[in-house]
Amino acid sequence: MKASAFSYARATSVGNAIELLVAHGERAKVLSGGQSLMPAMNLRLVAPELIVDIGDINELRGIAVRGGVVTIGALTRHADLLKSPEIAAHAPLLTDAVAHVAHPAIRNRGTIGGSLAHADPASELPACMVALNATIIISGSAGERRVPARDFFTGIYETALSAQELLVAVELPVAPKKSAHFFCEFARRHGDYAIVGMAAQAIVENDLLADLRPVFFAVGNRPVLANAGAKLLKTSVTPALLSEASDDLGEELDPPEDQQASSSMRRHLAKVLLARCVSALLGRPDLSAGGSL
Ligand code: FAD
Repeated sequence: MKASAFSYARATSVGNAIELLVAHGERAKVLSGGQSLMPAMNLRLVAPELIVDIGDINELRGIAVRGGVVTIGALTRHADLLKSPEIAAHAPLLTDAVAHVAHPAIRNRGTIGGSLAHADPASELPACMVALNATIIISGSAGERRVPARDFFTGIYETALSAQELLVAVELPVAPKKSAHFFCEFARRHGDYAIVGMAAQAIVENDLLADLRPVFFAVGNRPVLANAGAKLLKTSVTPALLSEASDDLGEELDPPEDQQASSSMRRHLAKVLLARCVSALLGRPDLSAGGSL
């Protein structure tokens, strides 16, 4: 199928893009890498009257590290994240995660801003943003506003962005010295969307978890920051305690069922990931028994 007829505008600046979005509202769509928008248009799942191409706005590109904060412009491509030494040094969870986003051809065009604005609940980057306690920076006619990643994702393909606004950047705190991370997903083939995945950021001190942000994806309508890890903090984790946390997780999650997996299979896979995560973060192979399929 081919997309319905649409008009095209190439925005020259953030201000110009916002003027176009304000003038056309719900009838316009922003074009970044096009890797989700163009397939959706060709399948006629969406039929915008106007495409606002932001690809020429160079100020939206790039990665900067200043004052303990990593700022990533919305047009930074997945491939740029993957090869960035700044990301590898200061947000290594992202380096691990991006390797699982689609395939090289898509990573060469797809952008972080597009991925977050698209808000597919099975996507890797939204979950990483919640795990890393990121702030999403949004520009609109009234100026800029900053939304914690945890509040940004509101449903399947739904975010705190209005049709008149542009996602311009994300900010991440530089990973602290004692931080550790975990990323793993189950997918049919490498590069496919996950059946269930997990991104976690932690602080490990004296062989204990001083802090843990365990975020699951493809288990709900948005990334799920699980409470279940709380009882594993600042205590020596035993297999019994891990098993309790795993039961809590099972009760906390209400995963969807689809042609890829039943709800109970997703719940089981999430528990497996929790066990693998804790075992890996603490360097305790004895805890990985609950992590076997
Ligand atoms: P676009 O397609 O240009 O835009 C996506 C949506 O976001 C549109 O609604 C657009 O209007 C809006 N938008 C874009 N930028 C902004 C902005 N700055 N401000 C406001 N709104 C904006 N993704 C994964 O996470 N994991 C995968 O495993 C995966 N596999 C894929 C496999 C295939 C075969 C394909 C085609 C895509 C896959 N993707 C996957 C999606 C890919 O990562 C996309 O690049 C990404 O989801 C969207 O980024 P984009 O820059 O292409 O955005």
